[in-house]
Amino acid sequence: MASTKYIFVTGGVTSSLGKGIISASLAKLLQARGYRVTIQKLDPYINIDPGTLNPYEHGECYVTEDGAETDLDLGHYERFLNTPTSQGNNVTTGRIYQTVIDKERRGDYLGKTVQVIPHITDEIKTRIRILGETGDYDIVITEIGGTVGDIEAVPYIESVRQLKWEYEKDIMVVHLTLLPYLNVTGELKTKPTQHSVKTMLESGVQPDVLVCRSEHPVDDDIKRKLALFTNVRPKNVIESRDASTIYEVPVMMYNEKLDEVVLDYFDLESKNEPNLDMWREFLSRLKNPKRIVEIGLIGKYVELKESYKSITESFIHSGAANEVEVKVRWIHSEHLTMENAASTCKGLDGILVAPGFGERGFEGKVATVRYARENGIPYFGICYGMQAAVIEYARNVLGWSDANTTEVNAETSKPVIALMDDQMHVTDKGGTMRLGAQNCVLEEASKAFESYGSVNISERHRHRYEFNNQFKEELTAAGLKTTGINPESGLVEIVEIDNHPFFVGVQYHPEYKSTVLNPHPLFVSFIKAADEFRQNK
Ligand code: GLN
Repeated sequence: MASTKYIFVTGGVTSSLGKGIISASLAKLLQARGYRVTIQKLDPYINIDPGTLNPYEHGECYVTEDGAETDLDLGHYERFLNTPTSQGNNVTTGRIYQTVIDKERRGDYLGKTVQVIPHITDEIKTRIRILGETGDYDIVITEIGGTVGDIEAVPYIESVRQLKWEYEKDIMVVHLTLLPYLNVTGELKTKPTQHSVKTMLESGVQPDVLVCRSEHPVDDDIKRKLALFTNVRPKNVIESRDASTIYEVPVMMYNEKLDEVVLDYFDLESKNEPNLDMWREFLSRLKNPKRIVEIGLIGKYVELKESYKSITESFIHSGAANEVEVKVRWIHSEHLTMENAASTCKGLDGILVAPGFGERGFEGKVATVRYARENGIPYFGICYGMQAAVIEYARNVLGWSDANTTEVNAETSKPVIALMDDQMHVTDKGGTMRLGAQNCVLEEASKAFESYGSVNISERHRHRYEFNNQFKEELTAAGLKTTGINPESGLVEIVEIDNHPFFVGVQYHPEYKSTVLNPHPLFVSFIKAADEFRQNK
């Protein structure tokens, strides 16, 4: 293939139309036709990355293999494509400006005035081309965050204009919009879409494809009207109806021929029909569950479910693998106590204590661990949820009532979870945690080994505190098994207990690696244990 093709996905009319899912679905179809595809997200905020953002702002922070803290859409890209992303797949305005300002300080601009055009836009274009220039991809899809017309999006749209001007046929713009339905007149309205395309045209960018979100069918008359007013070919106006699951969208886009429109535009061969067999098989299992299990998700950000996106998606993958539907009961850790844990968790088939930071809601997490441990309810603790399990065990089995993490109580006499040595002198908050893929060696007699089926694994991390090896001997002697160890540092990555249907705490984040085609083995075993627990009730 001569040169990399670039597809930009922009959004109009409102936010939250699902640019990430449309990008991932299109990428999936092109991948299923044999093309090498990756997806990039440009975020117009001034933070360097979402690592320092409270999850209430933009939902979960997604961590890649190389330890980049990124937008949650990258999680969708990996779950759909089953290929890893990296730092290069997520760029923020903060990072662009930081690079340009660093260059200015070094004197790289040789006395020139540094300006949005060309310096900021050049840097944006460089970041867009980075993935294409690796030679690893035939097609790079770049999703531009926010909505066309936002002040913050202007330099990005301008960069797209320049790229279209420079490379013409290698660049394509897909604009995602909304066709609202007016109940009174019973019709879909095209005006907001016309306006948002006009806004793009004012910036010199002509969209090549319109993907129209709609709650009702978009008939040919409406497509023709939209095409006429927006200069888009009628066959390039694509309907995107609301779906019952995001995983249905690639199939819907296939039926709407979005991938064909793209190949046609670039004059690329249709090689073969996309092979979606395994995808469809997953969808059929997802839609025809044999049973239901109910899992309690304990966290302090439960008001915004996007904060736990990768976890809930992992439930969907592992539920389909077990042919069960996973129903989530959202439980706020701040409202949980030793006294109400039993009534709040009544009827649950499994409990997952989620990752988190700081004191708020932490005691509620510890209380739930105790309830799950003492009542034999399948328990899965992730990161802070693993740390809570260690603390609960130290307090209630060893009787160290003061045991804690130094994150919550720096004065505890039993700091069973403590700051890692190399974190002692870290003061900056951004990008300084233990991040990204780390090796782990599993004990063979363990649930972990049973699930993974191999001794050597690698998982992604995001934390500052760790199991304190000073207390390892006493904790293991009391029955808390350490079944996964980092071979380089000796850090404990997994704890388990025996005589329990499933009690596993992991210091890492398995949820980041679960995909449609590779549901995470620990989630699969956890849901299996929950299913068995329910059947034996
Ligand atoms: N707050 C804990 C730590 O930093 C756990 C982090 C997490 O759950 N991601 O170690």
